[in-house]
Amino acid sequence: MPGRFEGKVAIITGSSNGIGRETALLFAKEGAQVTVTGRNLERLEKSRQALLDAGIPESNFLIVSADITTGSGQDKLIGETLEKFGKLNILVNNAGASIKDPENKTGISQGLDVYEQTMKINVESVIGLTQKTRPHLAKTKGDIVNVSSIVAVKAGWSLLAYYPMAKAALDQYTRSAAIDLISEGIRVNTVNPGIVQTGFHESEFGWSAEEAKKFYDDMGANRSSIPVGFAGRPEHIAKTIAFLADRDSSEYIIGQNIVVDGGTTLVLGIHANVLNSLSNS
Ligand code: NDP
Repeated sequence: MPGRFEGKVAIITGSSNGIGRETALLFAKEGAQVTVTGRNLERLEKSRQALLDAGIPESNFLIVSADITTGSGQDKLIGETLEKFGKLNILVNNAGASIKDPENKTGISQGLDVYEQTMKINVESVIGLTQKTRPHLAKTKGDIVNVSSIVAVKAGWSLLAYYPMAKAALDQYTRSAAIDLISEGIRVNTVNPGIVQTGFHESEFGWSAEEAKKFYDDMGANRSSIPVGFAGRPEHIAKTIAFLADRDSSEYIIGQNIVVDGGTTLVLGIHANVLNSLSNS
C-alpha cells in the first residue's frame, strides 16, 4: 500500500537531530522524498545513516548542510531541494533553539545579543523560509508545519525570557501566515511540544547526556510536571507533524496549534500538590 506521503517532497529543518530527524524518518518511511538539514556534519551523517538503516534509498533523500539564519543558507536549502526533486510540497519549520547566555545570566538579565540570536533561529528563519518557499508551495497546494513550544502559552518563565517570547511570536506568525496563504491553497499549522527527550536541553543548559537523562527521568516521575508520567519522545511530535502535513487527515485545520505535552499545560500551581499526593498514594 502506498504511504500517505508518496509523491510528496518535504524539507524538514533541524533534521540533523531530535524531533526533526524522527520526522524525516517517518515521512520517508511513508513515501516522501525528504531534505534533511542542519549545520553539524557529524549529526547530519547520523541522520543519513538512520535513513539508510530504515531502508530508505539515497534517491529519496538529500542532505544539505546550511545555517538557516542566513539568507544564503536558506537559498541553498531550497535551491538544492528543487534541483534534486523538482518541486516542494511540505515545509516543516522545526529547527529551533534556546540560546545559552555566554555569561550564564538568566531571565530578563540576559543580554540583547541572546535575544537577537533567539529571534533569528526561532522566528526570522521561519519568516525567510516561508517567504522563499511560497511560490513553490503555491504550485503544489502545499503544507507548512511550524514547531513551536508550550513555553509560548500564557505563563511566566523566570529562567529564560527570550525563547518563550520567540515561540509566542512564532504562534502569532502561524495565524497571520495561515490566513494570508490559504487563498493560494497553502495551509500553515503549528505543533507545540512539551518536554521531549532530544539534544535540546543539552544545548540549552550546557548539560551532558547523563544530566539531560536525569532531568527527563525526574520530570517524568513528577506528575505535577508531566501528568502522563514520562517525558515525551521525538516520535510523539513527529506523528503530530505528519498529521498536520497530511491533507487527507487535516485538510480543514488552518492556522491552529496542537499542544503535545503529556498534560503539562493543564496543571496549575494551585493543584500541583494535590496531583502529586494522589500519584504517590
Ligand atoms: P535538538 O537540539 O535536538 O535539535 C535542534 C535542531 O535544530 C538540530 O538539528 C540543529 O541542527 C537545528 N538548528 C539549530 N540552529 C540551527 C541553525 N542556525 N541553522 C540550521 N539548523 C539549526 O532539539 P529538538 O529536536 O528538541 O528541537 C526541535 C524543535 O522543537 C525546536 O524548534 C525546539 O524549540 C522545539 N521544542 C523542543 C522541546 C524539547 O523539549 N526538546 C520542547 C518544545 C519545543 P545543527 O545542530 O546540526 O545545526
